[in-house]
Amino acid sequence: MSILTLDIGATAVKYGLFDPNGILFKQGDFPTQAQNGAHSLFVRLTAWIQNLPETISAIGVSTCGQVDPSTGNIMYATDNLPGYTGMQVRSYLEETFSVPVAVENDANAAAIGEAYFGSARGMPDFLCITYGTGIGGAIISDNSIYRGKNGSAGEFGHIITHAGGLPCTCGGKGCYETYASVNALCRRVRAVTGQTLSSHEIMMRIQEDSIANALKDWVYEVAIGLSSLIHALNPYCIILGGGIMENPRLLHLLRKETLELVMPNFRGTLIFGAALGNQAALYGMFHFLRDSVTKGDP
Ligand SMILES: [Zn+2]
Repeated sequence: MSILTLDIGATAVKYGLFDPNGILFKQGDFPTQAQNGAHSLFVRLTAWIQNLPETISAIGVSTCGQVDPSTGNIMYATDNLPGYTGMQVRSYLEETFSVPVAVENDANAAAIGEAYFGSARGMPDFLCITYGTGIGGAIISDNSIYRGKNGSAGEFGHIITHAGGLPCTCGGKGCYETYASVNALCRRVRAVTGQTLSSHEIMMRIQEDSIANALKDWVYEVAIGLSSLIHALNPYCIILGGGIMENPRLLHLLRKETLELVMPNFRGTLIFGAALGNQAALYGMFHFLRDSVTKGDP
């Protein structure tokens, strides 16, 4: 018996098969083909699951978009995956495969993965923040996801750090992600070098003064947001995710800059890189199903 976990993004669907002991024994990904819409994706997904040689005992879906975890419905998704808003993911998969199904927002799933299998083990209160095209986040409070009124808590990317600043995709101005996402770093580097570099290329060329200065300014932008979150929530630790945060030198710079910005009694806050990388959400979904199967209440 295997637990199938999926992580649905606008670009790719990652999958992982776990045995009941939590060993991830098979993994991979395939393109979402988002332009064909959510319905088409689930038709392909259904055929793919039916063709798996393993016997599936439960399915966990981590997904982009806002999820109602009590129903497993997609409350809202952008047009990056057309037709996804309103889709009843849990009931569809339960009816099709007759197994327990859990559905969770990808940022929350990744945070739970880090909580039980990664960098945040043993931490009852922490934040998980992922830096990429935008900035995603999750709040874990007393070992559980803090959801807020609409289930949308953790939108750290849209905290305003520059009043009246640059326009953001959300319609606001001066949002944190406009200044502190990896896209914002690439934009800064492009402005001083005239070159479009990936975050990996930027970190490889850190010896160049112009790039080092752009990175320094970006680190300050990231740290401003982190220091505000530390003051507001006083977490045990902050887990930083996204490929760029795998760089130990960058983590050191961020830790130093952030802890200089907070009041002395907050300087014990731990700041770590995510341990599970892009598998964190798969591990998080395994955790949810392990619990729900044990309790008999998916
Ligand atoms: Zn915004």
